[in-house]
Parts: sequence; C-alpha cells; structure tokens
Amino acid sequence: MDASKRLTDSFGRAMGDLRISVTDRCNFHCLYCLPETEAAADFYMKQASMGASQDESVPILRQWKPKSQILNYEEIVRIVRILAPYGLSKIRLTGGEPMLRRNLDQLIAGLSAIEGVRDLAMTSNGFRFLEKAQSLKQAGLKRMTFSLDSLDSKGFKKMTGVAALDSVLDSIAIAKDLGFDPIRINAVVIRGMNDHEISDLAAFAQKHKVSMRFIEFMPLDAGRSWQKSLVVTGEEIMDHLHSRFDLVPVAAINDSETATRWRFRETPEAEIGIIAPVSKPFCRFCNRLRLTADGHIRTCLFSLEEYDLKPLLRGGADDMQILKFIRDAVLLKEERHHIGESSFVQPVRTMSGIGG
Ligand code: SAM
Ligand code: SF4
Repeated sequence: MDASKRLTDSFGRAMGDLRISVTDRCNFHCLYCLPETEAAADFYMKQASMGASQDESVPILRQWKPKSQILNYEEIVRIVRILAPYGLSKIRLTGGEPMLRRNLDQLIAGLSAIEGVRDLAMTSNGFRFLEKAQSLKQAGLKRMTFSLDSLDSKGFKKMTGVAALDSVLDSIAIAKDLGFDPIRINAVVIRGMNDHEISDLAAFAQKHKVSMRFIEFMPLDAGRSWQKSLVVTGEEIMDHLHSRFDLVPVAAINDSETATRWRFRETPEAEIGIIAPVSKPFCRFCNRLRLTADGHIRTCLFSLEEYDLKPLLRGGADDMQILKFIRDAVLLKEERHHIGESSFVQPVRTMSGIGG
C-alpha cells in the first residue's frame, strides 16, 4: 500500500490495528478491571494495610452506557470499511464481554466480508463462548483470545467474581476443536493473588499447545486500587519460567508486537508471551487505535481525550468526512503513557469501558 495513504501519527507511527469494543457490559468482576466483589475489596484492603497507599479519588462505579449510545453493527462495519483500505487491517473485537452482544455472528460476517480486513480476532472471558463458537467460526472469526488468570476454581472465583472455571476451560477446548488458530490465553498477574500459578499456567499452555500471554497489571481498574507493588514484572515472570521450562526466544514478526515471545523447546506449538507495558513500555512502536462501544476513538489506552464519532455517523457525514475526523484524531496520538510517573492520571474509563 502507498505509505502516504496510511493513517500516521505525528511520531511517524502508521496505524494498523483497530480494537473495537462491542459492549461496555460485563458478566465478570475481574479484580484488575471491574472489582466489585467482597474478595476483591478484602484483597486490596489487605494490600493497603501492608503499606501500599490507596488512591484517594472516588472509585469509578459500574455504569453501563445506554443502548441508544452504543454503535449498531451497520455503524461498526461502516467504520471498518472506511479504515481498512488505509492500513487498519487487523481487527479485534473486545469489550466489556463481547459475547454479551446479541447476534455477534452477524457483525463478524459483515466485517469478514470487507476487502482489506486481513485478521479478525476476538478477546473473551470465555463464559458464554461455548454456545456460539460454531456460528462465530462459520461467520469468519479467525482467532480467539481467552482470559484465564487461574486454574484453581477458588482462585478463579477470587479473580473474576464468578465460579466459571469449567465453562472457560470447555470454551478453550471447543475453540481448539473448531480450528481457531492460534489460541491465546491472557493472564494478568497480580502479586499475592495469582503469581503462585505462573508455572501452572505455562504448563497448561504447553499441554494444550496454546499461546500463553502473561500481562502486567495496568492502572485501568474501576476500583483505582492499582499499586506498582502489585505488578509482577515481565522480567520476574520470565526468571521464574526459565528456571522451570526449556524456553527458546521467538523472533518478533514486526516492531509493533506487544509481546516478547518464547516457545517450549520440546513443544514448539506452545508459546509464552510477556506483555510488559508497565516495566517495558512499547509505546514507540504502538500502531493501535481503539473504538469504544459508544463510538469514541481512543488513540491510547491511557488517553485523557477521546473523539466522539457518533455525531458524524448519525448526522449524515460522508465517508471522507469520517476518514478525515479519524485521521485528525490519529495525529493527536500520545507519544507514550506515563504510568508510574507523578504526572500520571488514570483515565475515567476502565479497561472494560475502553476495550482491552
Ligand atoms: N471481557 C473480555 C476478557 O476479559 O477477555 C474482553 C475484554 S478485557 C477488558 C480484555 C483484556 O484486558 C483481558 O484479557 C484482561 O485480562 C485485560 N485487562 C483488563 N484489565 C486489565 C488491567 N487492569 N491490566 C492489564 N490487563 C487488563
Ligand atoms: Fe474481566 Fe474482561 Fe469483564 Fe474486565 S471486561 S471484568 S477483564 S471479563
């Protein structure tokens, strides 16, 4: 593609990856995202009493956006149709929990029919995936990422607020059977909560020949309880894994990859990836753009500004006006995030409201 057509920001980064949140709603209460359970409150209170200072600001409460503000499937398909020819060809559906949106296969069919969409993936907590897996695959969904932070049913409930470990494991198994490839598993590692399960999760990846992504906890939780001391760094995770597994580094396919990857020497089909935005930011090569469920363009997970597309979408704007609006937003993409610095301000939206 002609590089001059790409949506490029003021630091020379050409956008290639569009994350679309299809709903801000969720049926889980993950400790690092929407912690509204007693177990979550207890955990964070214990950490605070051990010296981690709490953010004094008012916690963000769960408040779903009204349905009228949520983009319909025609609107989402139109945005992707406008952007795909300009290089935004990798699409990931996320949320909130995307499986809560009805007739998702219709959206997937619409997106997979767009010329120029070369990758179509979804991230889900896996709870309601099983019943719809086949129709999603048939509609054109290529890749699945599931969140799985614990392999212990009690630990899983503590992390997510829901006793759903078995359903998630069944979903992963059916996704494999149906030929989703590769299958990724995301685990957010929190010190004192699930860090003792790092090896078990890696062994799970090896056994099932899937790709395990360990993610550093980021300050995007609704409780505003994030503390640096709770972050288990990528380096700590790898030190731990290298002592137990024979891992071989995998070369990055391109600069914008967020994960540093290893494969198991004896099981090359299985992989470990470390996503370390806190200890090793990858902002310099970030090519991601986000569309929230209520139609706002976000140029960074940590953006304090966002750009509402709905007035244009619903006010009769033509495709070129919409493209120009998004191109202008991209020019304002932040150079980097400021996690851990005194100037850092947590965005009002949580990870579930942005679309991780
Ligand atoms: N509900 C789906 C799920 O959980 O897979 C999709 C949305 S969720 C927001 C997308 C990913 O963001 C999940 O894999 C989750 O683990 C990750 N995530 C959520 N909050 C996070 C945080 N504070 N730090 C790091 N990752 C987070
Ligand atoms: Fe958990 Fe995903 Fe729901 Fe957040 S959006 S609470 S990460 S399932």
